[in-house]
Amino acid sequence: MNIIIFGPQGSGKGTQAEKLAEQFNLSHIETGQIFRDIARESSPLGIKIKDLNEHKEMIPDEITVDVLKHYLEKVSDDKGVILDSAPRTIGQIQPIEALMRAEKRPIEKAIYITLPYAESVARITKRYMCTLCFRHFVIGKHIAHSGEKCPTCGGMIAQRGDDTPDGIAKRLKTFYEVTVPVIEEYRKKEILIEVDGNRGVEEVFSDIIKQLEKI
Ligand SMILES: [Zn+2]
Repeated sequence: MNIIIFGPQGSGKGTQAEKLAEQFNLSHIETGQIFRDIARESSPLGIKIKDLNEHKEMIPDEITVDVLKHYLEKVSDDKGVILDSAPRTIGQIQPIEALMRAEKRPIEKAIYITLPYAESVARITKRYMCTLCFRHFVIGKHIAHSGEKCPTCGGMIAQRGDDTPDGIAKRLKTFYEVTVPVIEEYRKKEILIEVDGNRGVEEVFSDIIKQLEKI
């Protein structure tokens, strides 16, 4: 099975993608994480991506497609893939679908985990990270308040750099303006599953499974 998963920040799409990967023997390909990793490399591509990130510019579609190709080629034939937020622009649909067909991995289904805007903001605002060991925390779940020290290493706990109200608003704006039109294309192709993400992880997961079995 080769599928795509979409959802706004805070929707839990990464968690669901991991669970689906385990359930159906899929390789979870998250372009956002791949680009964060590449940006730490001193290769020409790493430097370019870092520069684009610093200027808050979007990564050109052709780079996204090239990088995706590189990762797809590494997936063994007995595994499917779950693409996490790719294609994320209208311009990426055609080249990514062509690539998937060329790799004999046509996209069969697309999953959209919805979440009200205010709930996205509320969830992201609660996300913190240890500045030393990078362990993730959710305020009210793993730690009571941001003044606590990391229970693993004693490091300082802080919000992610781009989790400021401005950063959150900007990323959500991009999602609704740029990626939602892509999702609508998959609705037109009649392979879209829409799932209410404003529930617990297990409830969302069982709903996805149920709907995947239906179409
Ligand atoms: Zn720590």
